[in-house]
Amino acid sequence: MGRLAFQYGTVHAFKSEDAMLLKNKFLKYHLPIKVMVPIITHQEDVSHYDYLISRDENIYLTIKRQFPNLKLLVIDDGHLLSEVQVDQLLQVAIHLNIAVICYGLRTDFRTAGFPGARRLLELAQVLIPVTTYCACGKKALFSVRKEHGKITFSGDQLLKGKDVSYEAVCPTCYYRKLIQYKKLKQSGRM
Ligand SMILES: [Zn+2]
Repeated sequence: MGRLAFQYGTVHAFKSEDAMLLKNKFLKYHLPIKVMVPIITHQEDVSHYDYLISRDENIYLTIKRQFPNLKLLVIDDGHLLSEVQVDQLLQVAIHLNIAVICYGLRTDFRTAGFPGARRLLELAQVLIPVTTYCACGKKALFSVRKEHGKITFSGDQLLKGKDVSYEAVCPTCYYRKLIQYKKLKQSGRM
């Protein structure tokens, strides 16, 4: 039986280069591997991925029909999968005997779990936290969103755009920034 693993963290915890390094290692030993990403990814360049997963795609059926001989399936931005798709990945591990590694964020910029990440935390047999650090030096746990360089705590869970960026922060800094934001809003300066 293959295993489903979830490597989770904040923004900047993962680099797509990690997935590519893994891929090159596997290919060196002629082991079949595919690296995939949900099509709704924020990444602009997706040319290095082997496959883009559609929103309502049944991943189990895709793997069974198109890539049944895989040894390792790597999913980047796993938090962007639907809950149902995460269930399908477990089926890939169990029934197709393929190891599955998902990289992804645990929570969004408001500390709420992404549906895909929540399901991965529930189902994955292997959970691997990836450490990142806040600017203050403590371990980061959350991500804050910046629009045009200013921190914001409002907006949709998924937001694309070149003016949008994210920063990994520790819980202390997160709530300090949240209080500052609320004060600025109350004072009408935002
Ligand atoms: Zn901090």
